[in-house]
Amino acid sequence: FFIALEGGDGAGKSTQAKSLAEWIRAKGHEVVLTHEPGATPMGKRLRSILLDVQSAGISHRAEALLYAADRAEHVDTVVRPALERGAVVISDRYIDSSVAYQGAGRDLSPTEIARISRWATDGLVPHLTVLLDVSPDTARERFTEAPDRLESEPAEFHARVRSGFLTLAAADPARYLVVDAGQEPEAVSMVIRHRLDAVLPL
Ligand code: C5P
Repeated sequence: FFIALEGGDGAGKSTQAKSLAEWIRAKGHEVVLTHEPGATPMGKRLRSILLDVQSAGISHRAEALLYAADRAEHVDTVVRPALERGAVVISDRYIDSSVAYQGAGRDLSPTEIARISRWATDGLVPHLTVLLDVSPDTARERFTEAPDRLESEPAEFHARVRSGFLTLAAADPARYLVVDAGQEPEAVSMVIRHRLDAVLPL
């Protein structure tokens, strides 16, 4: 079973991913908690390039392809093998982050970005995508660990990223859970657990 956690910077994805992993483990399942970009040895090198150029700037198409390369390696060496042995995989970011950031956030077509990721992953789609939705203003106030990206891009960029995520979720409500991530973390966890109780084959 494959769960992706998505959302803008400072939405609380990592906190929720950890809490969710513990909850599912306590039910006796193997859980692989992973993330993008940078979960593999090659991915770590790509992540450092990507975060460097985030401030310095590279061609938007090159940036999109580096994220796709990170994802291809991640799926091939971490995600698929774990799913094949029956583990629950939780990924902090997946394809939708590219569609929202490199597509909606930049000047590239979200449809084309999705197509690149589909090829990179050989069509691997999560069973459930949890979108932690929060306004960039709330994120800035509540989560101090992510100020860099929030400050380094203009407010319109974050607004486009947010609406990019919401557009994806609206197009496929059966596969998405949109949670108001402006709530307390415990409240957010409860909403996610409730939805998983209904869909996880436990
Ligand atoms: O989620 P995490 O904080 O590890 O992401 C690292 C940085 O990469 C963040 O600043 C995020 O905005 C950015 N990112 C991006 N496009 C993606 C995934 C992450 O710009 N597809």
